[in-house]
Amino acid sequence: MSNTISSTSSLGSYDFIIAGAGGAGLSLLHYLMGSSILCSKSILVIDKSFEKTNDRTWCFWEKEVGAFENLIHHHWDTISIHAEGFNKKLPTAPFSYKMIQGIDFYNAILSKAKLKSNIHFQEAIIQNIKVLDASNTSKGATIEWEGGAATGNYVFSSLLPFQMNQLTTAAAYSKSLQKNDSSAKEALFLWQHFKGRVVQFNQPVFNQSVAKLMDFNVPQHGATAFMYQLPLNENKALVEYTIFSENVLSIAEYDQVLNTYLANEFPGLTYSIAHEEIGAIPMTQLSLSKYQAPIYAIGALGAAIKASTGYAFQFIQLQCKNIVAQLEKGQPIQTHVHTSRHQFYDAVLLYVLYYHKMEGAEIFKRIFAKNKAATVFKFLSNTSNIFEDLQIMRSLPTRIFLPAALSVLLRRA
Ligand SMILES: Cc1cc2nc3c(=O)[nH]c(=O)nc-3n(C[C@H](O)[C@H](O)[C@H](O)COP(=O)(O)OP(=O)(O)OC[C@H]3O[C@@H](n4cnc5c(N)ncnc54)[C@H](O)[C@@H]3O)c2cc1C
Repeated sequence: MSNTISSTSSLGSYDFIIAGAGGAGLSLLHYLMGSSILCSKSILVIDKSFEKTNDRTWCFWEKEVGAFENLIHHHWDTISIHAEGFNKKLPTAPFSYKMIQGIDFYNAILSKAKLKSNIHFQEAIIQNIKVLDASNTSKGATIEWEGGAATGNYVFSSLLPFQMNQLTTAAAYSKSLQKNDSSAKEALFLWQHFKGRVVQFNQPVFNQSVAKLMDFNVPQHGATAFMYQLPLNENKALVEYTIFSENVLSIAEYDQVLNTYLANEFPGLTYSIAHEEIGAIPMTQLSLSKYQAPIYAIGALGAAIKASTGYAFQFIQLQCKNIVAQLEKGQPIQTHVHTSRHQFYDAVLLYVLYYHKMEGAEIFKRIFAKNKAATVFKFLSNTSNIFEDLQIMRSLPTRIFLPAALSVLLRRA
């Protein structure tokens, strides 16, 4: 692969092609636009639709003022964790738990990009992405759609073989994996699947300064399940039923749990539903991409999701910032964002959850009972040091986690 970035301007040929204008594609575009070295390179952004909707809410924790601070819809400096006989509030300092609405993110980046003459947009369903000449990858890659094609020196794709906000496509993907992919049979694969509602009461019912991060007092469906309650003001909150399991549920099943939970939490009170979101996020260390340079997988396709938690937004930011820094320096592109130490912890936790060695409710209850939120957030952000890791590990039973760790090591050997 060539380390230099050539400028191309002929029709259908670009320096960079971004395939998929979602969380990762638009984050990459954002950092490219912000680079004094790369901002005038020719860029083609392709998506099947630029008619964006508010299809997801991104929540994440951050210490400092972030790249999208102006888009923060709400933030909380206290979280709470609930399980049977356990209720704990934890201050998040020095972190803040933040929320961005998908539509605000999409609109902000797309409206800025549309003002740039070097950035081009193509609305099309991409059918194929391939290296132009396998013997000489510096020649770039080509993207094909019905009736058209374009070539790029670098192609960044976030096109998954399923859609994270369509549960039926996620379910079909699981089935095809089990049937067709022998490596997938070995890899542990859970879905973090959920349905959420923004509920609006006509009286104050929420404490808007506390984000209920995990309330395990809900049907566990033989897996790990919790309710997520994020108040936007005293009358309004995002309430989301989330499960880590092998199979997604039917919409009616999420609705039933949400209805019962809201009726129990707020007896006799009525509410309207202002918005709904559904999703299925892959929790796995299985590689979802088979691309090779100069095609790079980013976002969920590019293993940005943390396998043990499903959080991805901040890892996508790190991945896209790294890519832009490497492009600026003419370095080979590497897209890994998870340290091997933290990947090992993820594998162990995934193993424990997958094989039901310990209930998720009990694991997270113990972790939050014995540690500060900041230590847990650092651990889950892959930024904890070895002493903080040991502190988290001490919260968990050795008799379960040690054999799990050994099993993970043996599977890798
Ligand atoms: C409902 C929901 C809520 C989430 N909440 C959080 C959260 O709170 N915190 C967190 O850290 N993570 C969250 N995630 C996980 C992760 O951050 C997001 O899924 C994120 O959007 C992943 O970015 P991506 O670019 O990989 O995928 P997407 O954002 O899904 O982008 C993929 C893009 O590719 C396009 N595309 C797909 N196929 C084609 C094709 N054949 N041709 C052309 N275009 C195509 C799609 O239209 C889409 O725009 C959430 C995910 C979902 C689904």
